Amino acid sequence: MMDLKDLYQEVIVDHNRSPRNFRAMADATRSLEGFNPLCGDRLTLYVKMDGERVSDISFSGSGCAISTASASLMTDAMKGKSREEAEKIFKSFHGMLTDSAPPADPAAFGKLAVLAGVREYPSRIKCATLCWHTLHALIDGANAPVSTE
Ligand code: ZN
Repeated sequence: MMDLKDLYQEVIVDHNRSPRNFRAMADATRSLEGFNPLCGDRLTLYVKMDGERVSDISFSGSGCAISTASASLMTDAMKGKSREEAEKIFKSFHGMLTDSAPPADPAAFGKLAVLAGVREYPSRIKCATLCWHTLHALIDGANAPVSTE
């Protein structure tokens, strides 16, 4: 179990050090800001939609290691997904961090499972879910910036 935790930690450090899809997108279909006042995480999420499908997704901004790694992993996971699939992944990821019981099969979450350990640190859950709430609102058509508070 310890080895798995170390591996997860390594993946988070790597995604924080060199976040994937970390760039502003000039030709985004939509963009939305998200803010977590508890920690000071601030990001802008960009999506390019091809009909119902996320053809490209990126983010910019600054935040702690957890929020940056989460946005990096999320953007990787969402590329090419339909609106419906994206919503499904959002719901299961949110459940992974906030359900009263830990996930029975963390492996089912693929790379996103590295963030499952965050559930043991309630004050950091909003860091991990900030980009997800922002994406949820963005796909929903919201225009107001998202705040976790
Ligand atoms: Zn944070």
